[in-house]
Amino acid sequence: MNNNMGTKIIHNGKIITVNSTITCPQCGHQKEEIMPTDACVYFYKCENCKTLLKPNQGDCCVFCSFGTVKCPPIQAGEHCCEHC
Ligand SMILES: [Zn+2]
Repeated sequence: MNNNMGTKIIHNGKIITVNSTITCPQCGHQKEEIMPTDACVYFYKCENCKTLLKPNQGDCCVFCSFGTVKCPPIQAGEHCCEHC
């Protein structure tokens, strides 16, 4: 399945996008990832420069800080974890 257009699912009655392209703040490397809908991704290692990314203060996961699309729980309008 080609997911370049973005994969959408129904989560808690809302249509959300599960693809997010993370841009590394250190080297600018971009990588599309599929976001889990039931957990936050708090740590993400850039495959290019090996920097371990952590969310900005106030963000719950690396997708909210560095991704093109915020994480599924945020899109669905709910809190997902203790970081929200
Ligand atoms: Zn990087």
